[in-house]
Amino acid sequence: MDIEFSEEDLAFQQEVRSFIEENLPKGMDLWTKRGDWFKALREKGGWDVPKWPPEFGGPGFTPTQRYIFDMEMARHSTPPQLPFGVTMLAPILMAYGSKEQQDRFLPGIRDGSVNWCQGYSEPGAGSDLANLKTKAELTEDGKHYIVNGQKIWTTLAHIAHWIFCLTRTSSAGAKQEGITFLLFPMDSPGVEVRPIITLGGSHTVNEVYLTDVKVPVENRVGEEGKGWTYAKGLLAHERTGLAGIQNSVLALEKAKENAASIKVGDGTLLDVPAFRNKLGALEAELLALEFTELRTLASVAAGGSPGPESSILKLKGTEIQQRIQELNLEAAGVYAAVWGNKAAGPKFAKGAMSAYLGGRATTIYGGASEVQKDVISKNVLGLG
Ligand SMILES: Cc1cc2nc3c(=O)[nH]c(=O)nc-3n(C[C@H](O)[C@H](O)[C@H](O)COP(=O)(O)OP(=O)(O)OC[C@H]3O[C@@H](n4cnc5c(N)ncnc54)[C@H](O)[C@@H]3O)c2cc1C
Repeated sequence: MDIEFSEEDLAFQQEVRSFIEENLPKGMDLWTKRGDWFKALREKGGWDVPKWPPEFGGPGFTPTQRYIFDMEMARHSTPPQLPFGVTMLAPILMAYGSKEQQDRFLPGIRDGSVNWCQGYSEPGAGSDLANLKTKAELTEDGKHYIVNGQKIWTTLAHIAHWIFCLTRTSSAGAKQEGITFLLFPMDSPGVEVRPIITLGGSHTVNEVYLTDVKVPVENRVGEEGKGWTYAKGLLAHERTGLAGIQNSVLALEKAKENAASIKVGDGTLLDVPAFRNKLGALEAELLALEFTELRTLASVAAGGSPGPESSILKLKGTEIQQRIQELNLEAAGVYAAVWGNKAAGPKFAKGAMSAYLGGRATTIYGGASEVQKDVISKNVLGLG
């Protein structure tokens, strides 16, 4: 494995840094002029959709370039795009959608004018997703599906224009068979969104009730009954993205700065051996995970596919995110308990608790940690 960056890769890194320096809006402009930033990325040659292949307007980065690109974007805290359209649905449409579907949906996904949500999980179908029961029945004239059922934990369903949804069109055979991938607008008659307020007090997830929702057959992606195959491909993309390694590198640097600002005796929290030990262990594990990611990239660059490594990245990546949040909580001490719009103590204490509480979900969504361990034990270690 060669993990040294080549001359070309280092030149590319410099190109990305210069681009960010010249184009990233500063201060509050980052929020008001986000559109300009995405326009500049697009005009640079598809940098707004770094994972898309060139035939769909992407830049055609090598895996290493993509790694460098993601790392530089994270380092400079550039505005993120919502993942559901750009990184989750788009690859499925590219691989399995019809030309009409690609022409119809990809432009709105790319320019962010159409928000999507992911309708997979149901009560009784989370880790065991293939157990899903939401039914889609073809009308007699074969022109529509009528969808009935309930989805749950649907992130941002309340601001989504469209949903990509797994439905059951047949109960014959194995439960992975008979699942069909449908797309429909969230303002279709019969779609009802109910909020779920999570531990951190925020509204990001929802229940979605579907009652006699009429979906034209042309909104089915691929073949009827083959939705499981399409969904599985998408989960690998989702898991790799959820590891958030580049963001963790940055977050760990910030956690160190935070700890260095807390006075303890004649020194700072950074000098306290118990704290230092945790920090050191985390740094070592994060470095090891970075190497795992680079190793995966090297294998993809050599023509392989990420496969079960995505489970290792997801498992360890999300655990590390949570441990960094715990360090911040520890450094903030009692000030982390000050809640809502109020703040006290060091500046970073505001938000430390909500990050910690919100972060609990990362080892659940995109496949819970226990499920990732199952995948690793079977497909990496060859057990069971
Ligand atoms: C914040 C948040 C956002 C989400 N967003 C979305 C979204 O946008 N769209 C969507 O479709 N879903 C979403 N989800 C749902 C998420 O994918 C599921 O919560 C997840 O798959 C777990 O399913 P479950 O909640 O039904 O738990 P269960 O599957 O019931 O699991 C409960 C516990 O049992 C353990 N367990 C289950 N099976 C096994 C096994 N075989 N071996 C060992 N242990 C096991 C699990 O690890 C877990 O600890 C979101 C969830 C959260 C928390």
